[in-house]
Amino acid sequence: MTKILIIYTGGTIGMVNDPTTGSLVPFDFKQIRQNVPELDRLNYDLDVYSFDPILDSSNMTPEIWAEIATLIKNKYELFDGFVILHGSDTMAFTASALSFMLENLSKPVVLTGSQLPIGEIRTDAKENLITALEIAATRRDDRPMVPEVCIYFDYQLFRGNRAIKYNSEKFEAFRSPNYPILAEAGVTLSFFSNYILPQPDRELVVHLNYNPNIGVLKLYPGISELAVRAVTASPVDAIVLETFGSGNTTTAGWFIDCLKEAIGNGKLIVDITQCQRGSVELGMYETSKRLEQMGVVSGYDMTFEATITKLMYLMGQGLQHQEIVRLMEDSLRGELTN
Ligand code: ASP
Repeated sequence: MTKILIIYTGGTIGMVNDPTTGSLVPFDFKQIRQNVPELDRLNYDLDVYSFDPILDSSNMTPEIWAEIATLIKNKYELFDGFVILHGSDTMAFTASALSFMLENLSKPVVLTGSQLPIGEIRTDAKENLITALEIAATRRDDRPMVPEVCIYFDYQLFRGNRAIKYNSEKFEAFRSPNYPILAEAGVTLSFFSNYILPQPDRELVVHLNYNPNIGVLKLYPGISELAVRAVTASPVDAIVLETFGSGNTTTAGWFIDCLKEAIGNGKLIVDITQCQRGSVELGMYETSKRLEQMGVVSGYDMTFEATITKLMYLMGQGLQHQEIVRLMEDSLRGELTN
């Protein structure tokens, strides 16, 4: 019988209304189990691991990512797949982080959650949970169909490090603007195998070290030197620069000097675009040529979530600066197209 480990971290899926405050608060897995009797009808051997405390995902931390990765490592041989129940707010960060932490993953790790608690009549939680389990259990040629970290939400399966939460109200909460979906659930479950990562030929390696010392600078017309310096002169090790269009910035002398100083001080600057769709192309316009010349790294079409977690992961590995630069511009887990 297919064995699946459900890892319950929290999120709306298992929340209940606290009558004293009127706010939604996390509740234990019993809440989920009681509301989905179908779980017993699935022909899988299900085991559940609940985090303590159960979280609203806005309180997610890299330490908890390391706990999840360690749990998967310890249970790896015992289960055919893993389904992580997680709040949707930071699900794309967790999925991205796990994709980098779990190198040579050969089993499905499917994150899901819901927009409405599982106890609500119109909930989206049941479908998300049941189909996520089916995806984690699907095999082809006796091997797991989706050997990667992914997000299942509202009938679609996304590569985890390509997904973003784009809507806080619709059941369709996630999108993958720069990469096709991996599967779609309709009357049948259709997998698009051309887009799914191949089975690795090496053993799983789990990376638990990370460096979260990253600054973020989102540009806007009229941004002041003071605001820019607050980030470029701060004691961070890397800066994610959210730029215009295909990676462009103002060419004002003071701005270029701020970036040059930061790079001179050993900071790594990664350029990603504010556009949801499309890629950074350094040098395409004069307004990004100088960035390329001074050593700004291209984030290509990476999501903000993938960029942050990839930096945390790479900077935690004790690599040389140039090696981090090279790997940032390379696809490690299918997170970018260059
Ligand atoms: N605030 C919730 C969380 O991320 C939202 C959700 O689960 O959709 O935990």
